[in-house]
Amino acid sequence: MNFNTRHSILGSTLAFIIATSCCWLPFLIIGLGGATSLMAFSEGLEKFSGLFMTAGIAFLGLGIYQYYNKSVADNKEAILVSTLTCPECRHKKEETMPTNACQYFYECENCKTILKPINNDCCVYCSYGTVACPPIQLNENCC
Ligand SMILES: [Zn+2]
Repeated sequence: MNFNTRHSILGSTLAFIIATSCCWLPFLIIGLGGATSLMAFSEGLEKFSGLFMTAGIAFLGLGIYQYYNKSVADNKEAILVSTLTCPECRHKKEETMPTNACQYFYECENCKTILKPINNDCCVYCSYGTVACPPIQLNENCC
C-alpha cells in the first residue's frame, strides 16, 4: 500500500464522515448531551445516595433506639412493688415481688392468714396485689 492509496482512503473516509455528518452530528450532540445529563444524573444520584445513606443511618439508629427501648421495657419497666391487701382483715402491706419466681403463699403479718392465689392466678400478687406480677406485666407466661 503506497502513500497515495492511504491518502485516498483517508480522504474518502474523511469525505464520508463529512458527507454523513448531517446524520451522525445530531446523534453526537444527543450523545454528548446524554452523557452530560447522565453525569449530572449520577452526580444527583450520588447526592441522593448520600441522602439515602443518611436516611438509612437514621432508620438504623431508630431501629437500635426502638430495640433498646424494647429491651429496657422488657427488662426494667415491670413494676416490682405491689401492695397486698389481705382479704380477711383488709391489712395492706407493700411488698417487693420476685422477678424470677412467683409467690404462691403469703402470710398476712396482721392476722397470720396464709393467702393463696384465687381465680387460677399464678401468685398472690395477681390475686391480692395492686400490681400483677412481673411476668404478667410483661405479657410472658407465668412460672
Ligand atoms: Zn390479714
